[in-house]
Amino acid sequence: MKIRKLFKFEAAHIVRNCSTVRCRQNIHGHSFKAELVLQASSLDNAGMVLDFGLLKGRISRLVAAFDPSYIIWSEDKGELVDFIRNENERWIELPFSPTAENLALFFHVVIQKIIGSTAPTNGQGDVKVHAVRIHETDTGWAETGPEDTGLFNAMASLAGSCVFSDGIMGSDACWNETWKVISAAPDLCGGPDGPRPFLYEDNV
Ligand SMILES: [Zn+2]
Repeated sequence: MKIRKLFKFEAAHIVRNCSTVRCRQNIHGHSFKAELVLQASSLDNAGMVLDFGLLKGRISRLVAAFDPSYIIWSEDKGELVDFIRNENERWIELPFSPTAENLALFFHVVIQKIIGSTAPTNGQGDVKVHAVRIHETDTGWAETGPEDTGLFNAMASLAGSCVFSDGIMGSDACWNETWKVISAAPDLCGGPDGPRPFLYEDNV
């Protein structure tokens, strides 16, 4: 079975190296939408893959950390990176270009890690991320899929070095704590066999 939940966030970026001049040379923003599709082969005690209410915990806090924000690529021009860091409270610095594709991969591996680090509390089964679809605009999106193993592994090796600004971390102690655990994990692609320090009911 699969369930789908829609999240929204407002963020700005520059996509360097893309073919479209207006996107690679201009700071611009998007009303991003992130669709999360979860799957499980068994249902919990209520007959659900996962109660939608439980997505309001650490998973929604990940998305909320981006809303609003400037998404920095760490390889961008030093002057711009320094300006954003110094003049903005809410920024996220990524070691990969902030395209819709890379953001979908990032959310996929981080949410998978959150779920894999969360102990079942109501008979939840083998819940895992099936796909993440990031809409940059009303007409364009990028989506992960089960076939993206190589891309997930590459992202997993990068994701832990993403940096959330003090302005973001200072506004959400729960996300601050969650990211410390997730980013320190040796294997961001880890499944449910590892330690599970979180509970689904935490901070909901
Ligand atoms: Zn853009």
